Amino acid sequence: MATAPRMTRREALTVALCTAGWATVRATAATAATAATAATAATPDSPAFREVASGIFVRRGLDEDVSPTNDNSIANIGFVVGREGVAVIDPGGSLRDGERLRQEIVRVTKHPIRFVVMTHGHPDHIFGAGAFRQDRPEFVGHSRLPLTLATRGEYYRERLDGVLGAGRAGVVLPPTRLIEHTGTLDLGGRTLELTAHPRGHSDCDLTVRDLQTATLFAGDLLFVGRVPSLDGSLRGWLNVLNSLKSVEASRAVPGHGPVGVNWPSGSADLERYLGVLATGTRAALAKGLDLEAAVRTVGQSERGRWKLFDAYHGHNVTQAFKELEWE
Ligand SMILES: [Zn+2]
Repeated sequence: MATAPRMTRREALTVALCTAGWATVRATAATAATAATAATAATPDSPAFREVASGIFVRRGLDEDVSPTNDNSIANIGFVVGREGVAVIDPGGSLRDGERLRQEIVRVTKHPIRFVVMTHGHPDHIFGAGAFRQDRPEFVGHSRLPLTLATRGEYYRERLDGVLGAGRAGVVLPPTRLIEHTGTLDLGGRTLELTAHPRGHSDCDLTVRDLQTATLFAGDLLFVGRVPSLDGSLRGWLNVLNSLKSVEASRAVPGHGPVGVNWPSGSADLERYLGVLATGTRAALAKGLDLEAAVRTVGQSERGRWKLFDAYHGHNVTQAFKELEWE
């Protein structure tokens, strides 16, 4: 059994934060203050919403880490419009990100916002929730999401405020409706099917399938183009991905990447990456490499295939190493 060496400061930070959107957080109070001023004068580049299927609108997240000027608008977020109501699927990465999402919904439809689904607990997906309190929706999440928010939520908020500027993160809102296995949301003539998954990308991944258009909102169980971020279980993620591939859907909305990909073929790159990570980490352990050597060598064939590779891959190897060394 290899003994894990002391982590570098950067690894310690990424492990502590354990989430997409945080790997290169290094804002100072000065940059945050400058950003707050800049952000009130002009909104950051914010890609438009696209209707990816009838009544389903998605905004592509920026392929960046959270920064003082991007409002943490780095995840794909969207909404589904039924005959009587609207469901938000991930409210956004900050209060401002959520407010822009809400403005778009109000522009598109007069129907009430009945549900705000949080696909998991990472800050780039959930901190926009506060923008929807006025609508009194049900906030829907995995049955383990409350624990994640209770243990990490305040920490996430402080770190996000530290980057964006005081008070700009938003609030942590716990879900009011929990999904333990499966559930449905009725939007009036349109049903969304919810599935709570075992540990994969994170501890509390929830997917949403629109039956009308066979569209799967995969949350961060699907990364396309942007390097995945592992914060749950590598073996678990591979298993969940395998079961998701048999879900009846023709299109999937990834948590990061294009607003829509064909399904299940759109999972191929992620599956390859996770497979390389598992195989490479097991080989490193078998050779008796220590963690630092594993981080340097495992999965380097994936370099050049993913955006933000250097920001996250080392952390993924660290996570995989810790998980697989006990096999
Ligand atoms: Zn995530």
